[in-house]
Amino acid sequence: MSMQKRLQAKHIDDLDVLRFLDSMETPLGWVFPQAMLYRRDGVPCILDAFPSGTPEKIVIAKLSSLCRRGLIDGCTCGCKGAFEITRKGEEHLRMHAGMVSA
Ligand SMILES: [Zn+2]
Repeated sequence: MSMQKRLQAKHIDDLDVLRFLDSMETPLGWVFPQAMLYRRDGVPCILDAFPSGTPEKIVIAKLSSLCRRGLIDGCTCGCKGAFEITRKGEEHLRMHAGMVSA
């Protein structure tokens, strides 16, 4: 039996993604910030909320889970994404912000 664990969406901390969306800056000329799945200068990229090299399949799985739970908004079909934190996500973040994971 192999001891090696494959990276799964559940290994990514919800709070890391929520914290990223909560703290990203609004690009010039935008009404509010959204993080995209693509990389472009000056545009927040949701991939930066994940450990570098995280497979896109895992990224999408994690984002889908957060969407289903109403903590973020966005589209996980594989298009531009346009992810943002919801009011519920902000409350979740605030509730768990001071917690140290064991
Ligand atoms: Zn889409």
